[in-house]
Amino acid sequence: MNIRLEGRTALVTGASRGIGEAIARRLSQTGAHILCAARSAERVREVAAEITAAGGSAAGVELDITSTNVRERIRELLEAQSIDILVNNAGITEDDLFLRMKTEAWTNVIRTNLDSAFHITQEVVKKMIRARWGRIINMSSIVGLMGNPGQTNYAASKAALIGFTKALALEIGSRNVTVNAIAPGFIETAMTDALTQEARETLEGRIALKRLGKVDDVAYAAVFLASEQAGYITGTVLNVSGGLYT
Ligand code: NAP
Repeated sequence: MNIRLEGRTALVTGASRGIGEAIARRLSQTGAHILCAARSAERVREVAAEITAAGGSAAGVELDITSTNVRERIRELLEAQSIDILVNNAGITEDDLFLRMKTEAWTNVIRTNLDSAFHITQEVVKKMIRARWGRIINMSSIVGLMGNPGQTNYAASKAALIGFTKALALEIGSRNVTVNAIAPGFIETAMTDALTQEARETLEGRIALKRLGKVDDVAYAAVFLASEQAGYITGTVLNVSGGLYT
């Protein structure tokens, strides 16, 4: 299967590192133009420059998805180009046991992981509907399916993204815009670097494939969902957890 997306533009949030950066790089190999967005302006420009140097097409976009002017920033981007593929990937954790969790930790996580998807998608989807073509990919987590102690805020945000995905898929399917979620398990990134060696080994023992995931494991799933070939798949959650949760 040869996935080609020439002439399409993808906005990938959280493309300054980790899973988002890998998605930006892999999507660029399909010929799509990539808007690499994150708060670290210099880093997203570097990622875009590296993609361009490798023969792809990309631009770095400084974007704080929690800022009050996020919709305005998206509208500015849409004045310059259409966005055919939206990957709502940026996300944070702010873990604590529920009884100790500060309201700020709850709010920060919900604003970053969930509210941003509402604001950005609502701006981007209008043009997709007019064009009768679009791909929306929301980065959930298996934690949103199975829960995880110390992550009530994160689990709630990731479970909510799944509900958001399914409801929106039903609303806009008739316009040929697909909406899907990816639920990664534990992937080797800055987010999982904090695990102790012991915690990591225990975790690996519980994973059917006996290893943590790599960012490319998730990136390939995103490229597939963005493809022409995935045009009959909508409202689903693609589990990329190595069998940690089935
Ligand atoms: P990461 O390495 O911590 O990267 C997070 C990305 O989000 C960075 O590019 C960061 O860029 C961006 N970001 C955070 N807050 C932002 C904001 N307010 N505005 C714009 N960008 C923001 O995380 P990751 O592991 O790659 O995770 C990516 C996604 O996958 C997240 O949604 C995460 O919940 C999900 N996920 C990860 C795992 C895992 O094991 N790693 C598992 C399941 C799901 P700046 O700091 O430059 O803004």
